[in-house]
Amino acid sequence: MNLLEQIIATEAKLAQLRQQLAAAPCAEVGHRWKHVGGANAGCGPDCGCSVPVHRCEACGDCDYGENEEAREKLAACAAERAETGEVDAA
Ligand SMILES: [Zn+2]
Ligand SMILES: [Zn+2]
Repeated sequence: MNLLEQIIATEAKLAQLRQQLAAAPCAEVGHRWKHVGGANAGCGPDCGCSVPVHRCEACGDCDYGENEEAREKLAACAAERAETGEVDAA
């Protein structure tokens, strides 16, 4: 592996660790996060998007819809609205 490849691999590992840290300490100790329903994404007045909400089965922590899936949904919705011209693409 050359140096550049090592840097790329290390950065990928770092990104993965940062993601794990965001969910810590639950993830560190092996808590399981359970899907507990949906919340309104709140991306617009005419928008009915909902995002998944998860809660830790062990300590009751809740992500309130702050997760990767929600970000993807919001991005997709914003893109769709920009396309249909319902919203000014700022
Ligand atoms: Zn937990
Ligand atoms: Zn939406």
